[in-house]
Amino acid sequence: MKARGLAVLSAKAPLTPFEFERRELGAHDVALDISYAGICHSDIHQAREEWGPALFPMVPGHEIAGIVSSIGASVTKFKVGDRIGVGVFIDSCRTCASCLAGLQQYCEEGMTGTYNTFERDGKTIAFGGYSNIFVINEDYAVHIPENLALDGVAPLLCAGITLYSPLRKWNIAKGSKVAVMGLGGLGHMGVKFAAAMGAEVTVLSHSASKKTDALAMGATHFVDTSVTGALKPLTKTFDLILNTVSAFLDINEYLDLLKLDGTLVVIGLPGKPYEVNAGSLLNGRRRMAGSMIGGIPEMQEMLDFCGEHSILSDVEVIDASYADKAYERTIASAVKYRFVIDASTF
Ligand code: NAP
Ligand code: ZN
Ligand code: ZN
Repeated sequence: MKARGLAVLSAKAPLTPFEFERRELGAHDVALDISYAGICHSDIHQAREEWGPALFPMVPGHEIAGIVSSIGASVTKFKVGDRIGVGVFIDSCRTCASCLAGLQQYCEEGMTGTYNTFERDGKTIAFGGYSNIFVINEDYAVHIPENLALDGVAPLLCAGITLYSPLRKWNIAKGSKVAVMGLGGLGHMGVKFAAAMGAEVTVLSHSASKKTDALAMGATHFVDTSVTGALKPLTKTFDLILNTVSAFLDINEYLDLLKLDGTLVVIGLPGKPYEVNAGSLLNGRRRMAGSMIGGIPEMQEMLDFCGEHSILSDVEVIDASYADKAYERTIASAVKYRFVIDASTF
């Protein structure tokens, strides 16, 4: 199938219009017309090889919302016209313990990413969501509730599930004290979800101008981390800290904010390792953990939760021609709070 979109042709090159082929529909495949594609900071990390060597040409994009346009002969999960979402992976081994548990993101063979990798056949480059159409095996796509606008839904497919999953894993509920580090695409979803689950939410942000938005999203407290000493009064305060910051920082200052048995979850993925003081962990039996997106069952649960609570990402919808500028603004933490490309402009 002929597709068009935006690609990066080599590391750090700008995004340029790109035409390519998507596979013809297999029996279990679904084709979709993409409506909106979110811009995740992971797209930028990969397009710029901040995580190591990448595969080019690269069509980034793993926050995909659209409408089913055709289905393969054996498809049962979707019908033409359905609202459909695709996230960070398009396949996995399906047989390992993780896959059988619905945790495809932790597939023991490695999930098949939506881009910057080869498809399951090991030779076809997987092209992501900055494009007009997509083809996916039905088992790796999710249904989008009818009451949610598709532009605000697209970022839920990565940013949303990535924050929903650790909040569920660490049993956040009424009375929990949660801090979200970084109010970007991921962080703002964390604030909305944690507040909807009943937690008392604190935003730890280096952008003082985001305070009003943070409170409107459901945070109770906002702390400007660029002010020297601002974190000190929060020592031993939180049950859970979700670190969504895309840049390197001193993680020890934040570990000290955990209560006894509290957990700091690493979600942001800077290219440089953190340095952890043993003392920051020992004192208070603290834990530092990681969390990566979420599996297909949890993605569906998250979208259903969003449908029930009318939760959407706050988006700035852009044309494809603005994508490079959007990358620069994302790096500068100057997006409120997710760029989403209108796929009709590819
Ligand atoms: P984003 O929209 O750029 O948000 C990152 C936020 O981090 C910014 O808005 C900013 O918040 C803060 N920040 C950025 N630079 C900073 C600096 N120099 N010092 C202090 N704070 C800074 O990015 P995103 O799309 O949410 O992604 C965040 C990170 O998560 C990325 O590294 C991405 O690759 C990673 N990620 C991980 C997963 C996973 O499964 N674990 C999934 C998706 C993405 P303030 O302005 O509020 O300070
Ligand atoms: Zn992402
Ligand atoms: Zn597997």
